[in-house]
Amino acid sequence: MDSSVYVFVEDLRGEGVERVLDRISAYGVAGVTVGAVHHASRDITPHGLSRLTIRRDGAHFPPPPDLFSGRRLKPTAGHQDALDGLREACTKRGLRLHGWTVFLRNATIGAAHPDVTVRDCFGDRGSPSDLCPAHPDVRDYAVSLARAVARLGVDSVVAESLHFRPLKAERSFVPLGPMDTYLFGLCFCDYCMRRATDLGVDAEVAREECARIVGGVLDGDPPAQGEVTRAALTAYAGPDVVAYARARSETVTTLVSEVASAVAGEGSKLVFVDSTGAVKGYRDGLPTPGLAAHDAWQLGVDLVALGDLVPAFGVLAYARDAARVADDVGAYLRSVGKDREVRAVLRPGHPDSDSTDRLVAKARGAKAAGAMAVDFYAYGLVPHPVLERIPATLAEAL
Ligand SMILES: [Zn+2]
Repeated sequence: MDSSVYVFVEDLRGEGVERVLDRISAYGVAGVTVGAVHHASRDITPHGLSRLTIRRDGAHFPPPPDLFSGRRLKPTAGHQDALDGLREACTKRGLRLHGWTVFLRNATIGAAHPDVTVRDCFGDRGSPSDLCPAHPDVRDYAVSLARAVARLGVDSVVAESLHFRPLKAERSFVPLGPMDTYLFGLCFCDYCMRRATDLGVDAEVAREECARIVGGVLDGDPPAQGEVTRAALTAYAGPDVVAYARARSETVTTLVSEVASAVAGEGSKLVFVDSTGAVKGYRDGLPTPGLAAHDAWQLGVDLVALGDLVPAFGVLAYARDAARVADDVGAYLRSVGKDREVRAVLRPGHPDSDSTDRLVAKARGAKAAGAMAVDFYAYGLVPHPVLERIPATLAEAL
């Protein structure tokens, strides 16, 4: 069974490529998944060069000029020498190398080019980190970025945020329900509205409905009750809004298809990771009831359609419960097709795993449900004693 450990470039810069790979190799994993393009963040890093690490939006390699000359959107420059020697160091140890790529979450690009970010039902662009997958310049950027990472010689390009993202405000003292937040997060930029209109949706009616409902709650109406489902959303917001939300999957499917082809054209393969599992369980490992595969449509992710276009998928199995991990993997495989490669991404420590036994149980559950690989997230975020659970897990479970 395949496996890898997620690694940040800051881990490699802090400890050095050789030392990090020696440690990871000793765990018995088959590869590393390195953050080649990442988003800004401030993270507690228990064994890092600094204990609090500031990450900036950036591509951690020199972007090939032929891919980006003439493009309006270019990768933000990160630590451009961070991956030097990594491919060779992996090959020397028999480790596979995967290039983890954050596509449409980039506040640096969004701040410089607000017109490519999502626009809500009120006409505001309040999410600078969320690039809209319908915007043609964003789509060109995504395809070139995928090619650039594939050219690093990676065994796969692991795509994060290659879809719509949920609304995330830092402060809200308004009790918005899940459906209100969902409607507030829908993009109504010109390109999204045009695509929906082309599919026969009355996009302007959908926008007005969203603005009426969310505006009402902001004015003191009671918030929506219950989780987001198609049926609940139809009852709450009407068929035009649901049709508009569903039309977003065409935008994402066509983009992922272009990216997958570009990656294959460079001799690598795409692993598509949708964020639904993180939306559900990131905070505490207690995901909301709906399985990730069943709720992925909310981000514009049509797993049945993508199953025909993408060779491999990562499931963010951010859950404490081994049975839940197995259920998520199983539902994913039923959606994308039994012959597809599904990789379960597990967090070996807090907040999902409190012991080696629990981690073993989850890896076993993922395998029994049909996962072809287990990936561990992530080297620099987890204390060494927790990372030491990985070898036992691989030995016992896989
Ligand atoms: Zn849009």
